[in-house]
Amino acid sequence: MSYFKVQGVVLKVRNYSDYDKIITIFTDKFGKIDVLCNGARKTKSKVLHLTQQFCFGEYIISKGKDMYILNSGALNNSFQTLLTDYEKLMLGTYFLEFIDKSTEIESKNIYILALLLKTLYILESGVVNLKLLKVVFDFKLISLLGYTPQVIKCVICGNININNGLFSNEHGGIICSNCTNKKKS
Ligand SMILES: [Zn+2]
Repeated sequence: MSYFKVQGVVLKVRNYSDYDKIITIFTDKFGKIDVLCNGARKTKSKVLHLTQQFCFGEYIISKGKDMYILNSGALNNSFQTLLTDYEKLMLGTYFLEFIDKSTEIESKNIYILALLLKTLYILESGVVNLKLLKVVFDFKLISLLGYTPQVIKCVICGNININNGLFSNEHGGIICSNCTNKKKS
């Protein structure tokens, strides 16, 4: 059997059968993957500390029939201090869920992992205002997903004269003054 070494962050954890877990990891090599962790809910499990939400580590996995299977691993940062601060925990959970919901299985994107890690380290350190951190994360993730707001030309008519244009959240970009006036009338 061939093994892969991946680095990643645990986005989500589900219980499976009596003692097992399925974790969703955003990895460097494969993007988002589901990994079966046999026996991970037993108190003596060697992978217990690696298979919690937020954990960032190195995971040795093999390809099973339906999903990857965890063999072993090494923890880099558990980010478990986030669990002691309600606001940080809520925001951290939001970051993980946003990535989980907006990415496809096995769609590799190393920049999304880098963004997530950087954001979690900043969140843990508490040096940046949480609202600001969320705005920056949202904007960067949306850009990485390919939804960069259109700001070069009008999103409705393509007019490149947008000097007096307005930004429209609804349209996801700049609207020129002609189109803005048409919308009003
Ligand atoms: Zn226009």
